Amino acid sequence: MSEVRVRFAPSPTGPLHIGGLRTALFNYLYAKRNGGSFVLRIEDTDKNRYVKGSEAHILDSLKWCGIIPDEGPSLGEYGPYRQSERQNLYSLKIKELIEKKHAYYAFDTNEELSELRKECEKRGGVFSYGEHNRKELKNSIVYGEEKTNALLSEGKKHVIRFKMPKNKEVLCKDLLRGEVKINTKTLDDKILYKSDGMPTYHFANVVDDREMKISHVIRGEEWLPSLALHVLIYEAFGWDDKPFFIHLPLILKPQGKGKLSKRDGEKLGFPVFAIKWEGNKAVNGYKENGFTPEAVVNFLSLLGWNPGNEKEIFTLKELVSSFSIKGLNNSGARFDPEKNTWFNHAHIQQITDEEIGDKIIEEFNSEMFEKSDVTKIAALIKPRLNSLLDIKTNSSFFFNRPEGFENKDLKKFKDLDFNNIIRSIIDVMDKDHDLNLFKENLEEIVKNNQWGFGKVLGLIRLSVVGNLSGPDLFKTVDLLGKKECLLRLDHLKKTLSEVQNKRD
Ligand code: GLU
Repeated sequence: MSEVRVRFAPSPTGPLHIGGLRTALFNYLYAKRNGGSFVLRIEDTDKNRYVKGSEAHILDSLKWCGIIPDEGPSLGEYGPYRQSERQNLYSLKIKELIEKKHAYYAFDTNEELSELRKECEKRGGVFSYGEHNRKELKNSIVYGEEKTNALLSEGKKHVIRFKMPKNKEVLCKDLLRGEVKINTKTLDDKILYKSDGMPTYHFANVVDDREMKISHVIRGEEWLPSLALHVLIYEAFGWDDKPFFIHLPLILKPQGKGKLSKRDGEKLGFPVFAIKWEGNKAVNGYKENGFTPEAVVNFLSLLGWNPGNEKEIFTLKELVSSFSIKGLNNSGARFDPEKNTWFNHAHIQQITDEEIGDKIIEEFNSEMFEKSDVTKIAALIKPRLNSLLDIKTNSSFFFNRPEGFENKDLKKFKDLDFNNIIRSIIDVMDKDHDLNLFKENLEEIVKNNQWGFGKVLGLIRLSVVGNLSGPDLFKTVDLLGKKECLLRLDHLKKTLSEVQNKRD
């Protein structure tokens, strides 16, 4: 097989959505799996839809995910990689198609065309520009060379259209879906060059795929209806080295029908971008929500692809070695935000305790604990982390003594003889030099006094953590140390007494 060269070809019309990111990922995986090249091409020929900051967001999102292009705007021998910088090439190529009589100038104004559209609608039809009516319209096929040249030199506004061949079966082949034949009767004379002097997506895309020696076009399913036109453009040029085409299945909404949209994210509260988009209204991405890039890459990889076994947790490297076109599905893949959180949890478990410890130190900027104890705190809270943001919430009580307590938590102990119980806990703790026997001693007084062990643990937990959930209590007490725990127990005792006095 000749060299594998694939491309991700986003239009900079806004932030990079996770759908686009998945397309980039599958291209990357296919390239790396086959020792090929992954090309990033910016398709910016539509001036009206251009959004500032979009290209940077695309580049930064890819970088954060580790999906690094081999060629792109800043490097590579097939450049430039921004279509707006390739106009000389397109204008040469369109001339070639005109000479070959596969494209023609059309001078119909927008007003004239919209009039024709309206008339057609009145008759219950849909207007199209093509084989059946192009002889009655204003174009170079009707006008001939002389009149056309005269109009062009006087600067008459025009577009350039593809001359759709008459009644021809176009063989469209997609590696996931097999072959379909489309008759050109169903296709119109698509615009290849717009009146602003810029090529359309269809034209620039095909010319660039050929020029950049792209071997496999892997893109979203929404481009499947354009495949026949693209195949015809290759044939019109006489190029018989078309790439292979693969149209990826849609990513579906978490519930209901249809494609995942930006609005689903807003409605259901999950990000649809890898990283923050600083648009008119800033929108956070997975990064800001405490996801690791590995988790994002992992959950995206399983939207429309499966490894053919039960394995679910993959690093990018493992994905490269497992990826194959055979594992791609052709039906839509449902987006599942809860499962994504599960992936994040799983990837966070792969981070070393030392690294999580570093994040804790960064967060609290405190010298309260030795580094080795911070590593122990990290190990203790790690199983509870679904997001990197949970690091802060789960470890904050180690650094900040709980002050206020929630009423609902305090209420749980209102019928207890808490003064007596907490005093006994303090006693037990105080006597035990290094807390080695704390658990045993505690069990003994609980048994002797016939207190509920659960309630007693609850009191200790509330005092040291500030609420009733948290990691292993005895390990927590151990890490906080006797002195600190005694202070916290005393503080809870006082608070409970104050609440009781108020009630009385
Ligand atoms: N510029 C197109 C897009 O943004 C690329 C489609 C393709 O990959 O051919 O979707």
